[in-house]
Amino acid sequence: MVDGKYDVIVVGAGPAGSMTAKHAAQKGASVLMIEKRQEIGSPVRCGEGISKASLDEVGIKPDKRWIAAEVDGAKIVSPSGHVFTINERMAGNEVGMVLERVLFDKALAADAANAGAEIKVKTSAVGLKIENGKVRGVKVISHGEPMEFEAGCVVGADGFESQIGRWGGLDTNLKPNDITSCFQYRLTNVDHDFRYCEFIIGSAAPGGYIWIFPKDEYTANVGIGVLLSKIKSPGQVKQLLDRFIAKDERLNKGQPLDAVSGAVSVSPPPDKLVKDGLLLVGDAARIIDPITGGGIAHACISGMHAGKVLGEAAQEKDFSEARLMEYENLLRNRLENKLWRNWMAKEKLITLSDETFDKIIQTLAEVGVEKMSVGNILKVIKSRHPELVKEFEDLI
Ligand SMILES: Cc1cc2nc3c(=O)[nH]c(=O)nc-3n(C[C@H](O)[C@H](O)[C@H](O)COP(=O)(O)OP(=O)(O)OC[C@H]3O[C@@H](n4cnc5c(N)ncnc54)[C@H](O)[C@@H]3O)c2cc1C
Repeated sequence: MVDGKYDVIVVGAGPAGSMTAKHAAQKGASVLMIEKRQEIGSPVRCGEGISKASLDEVGIKPDKRWIAAEVDGAKIVSPSGHVFTINERMAGNEVGMVLERVLFDKALAADAANAGAEIKVKTSAVGLKIENGKVRGVKVISHGEPMEFEAGCVVGADGFESQIGRWGGLDTNLKPNDITSCFQYRLTNVDHDFRYCEFIIGSAAPGGYIWIFPKDEYTANVGIGVLLSKIKSPGQVKQLLDRFIAKDERLNKGQPLDAVSGAVSVSPPPDKLVKDGLLLVGDAARIIDPITGGGIAHACISGMHAGKVLGEAAQEKDFSEARLMEYENLLRNRLENKLWRNWMAKEKLITLSDETFDKIIQTLAEVGVEKMSVGNILKVIKSRHPELVKEFEDLI
């Protein structure tokens, strides 16, 4: 028996899911968004850093209720302590803020509800309804009860651990070299510079970095991301962060308010994001920035495009792969080049020694960068150390 029919069912109420649900509902589609957790946005598994520009792009107005801190820029710290400060002049509107994701995610879900989407929490997708190779709906366990819903299109917005794509026949598998394993404390009683987000690069975090993102004057998200292919056991990620914190005088009196682990993809985008009646957004679509590991902005961008296309597809009653390709094309036009370029840069960055990172950051700190971009950074490094950018020439 079918428990309900919708134009669109969105699986996962993170930023990607809520943006999809909002934009599809705004265009008149009937939308159900399901979330397996009992509370949208909690627990937070995120450093919560985002640029102001990316919120502008997706039409989200900054709201004091979900902004923990607005920062003046970022500091990149090399293994031996050289600091390259990216200030507002260089970064423009790309300077950032640190969110309260618990409240941010709820605010986006509330926007989706205001646009007309129905929401069910404590409701897990456990399988897809597939007929003649086409996705027709989703099987769920809602508050312990098995149920089935039919949909014109099911949207996989189910995050890094996504199963929707795989169940529907879209290949979203990742190689160990394209997965970053993360561990983070929210540390209070710390003495950090709360006007800057800080990134510590080099062998302290093999293939990744350590971040210190301020939440307030005394509290920061202090986390680490390490390339999965560079560690021997999952416990090593926490050990590396603990070792760093113990040595850092600003942090070593800090006390944890919470601890979270998780992972991000640092891969090129997958070959396909849509099929008849199926579409992927956000982390489920593997569109995290391979250099920074940041995915909130891309999740919102993909959700916005997906929702608009789905809203129109609902009016036309056409959820075929050919129709949904409009979403895939919009997303590829916006992100594909950046994702490939940053993935290629990541592949090279993970091979650099601490000594090379020191030279690079020292040069950037001394020479400065007029306007932040990968090309401009490489040009500055080339001016002092042409031998270091030989392998990156194609990115300039
Ligand atoms: C430790 C860590 C730090 C990070 N720091 C940053 C940062 O500072 N800045 C940044 O931009 N990005 C950061 N990221 C990445 C960022 O968190 C993600 O890119 C972002 O949350 C993606 O949004 P999403 O909506 O695609 O997925 P998610 O936010 O993961 O949402 C997916 C939702 O789907 C739900 N779900 C999953 N399976 C099912 C199911 N079967 N049925 C129903 N619901 C389901 C989940 O419960 C979840 O609510 C970090 C990630 C980690 C792990």
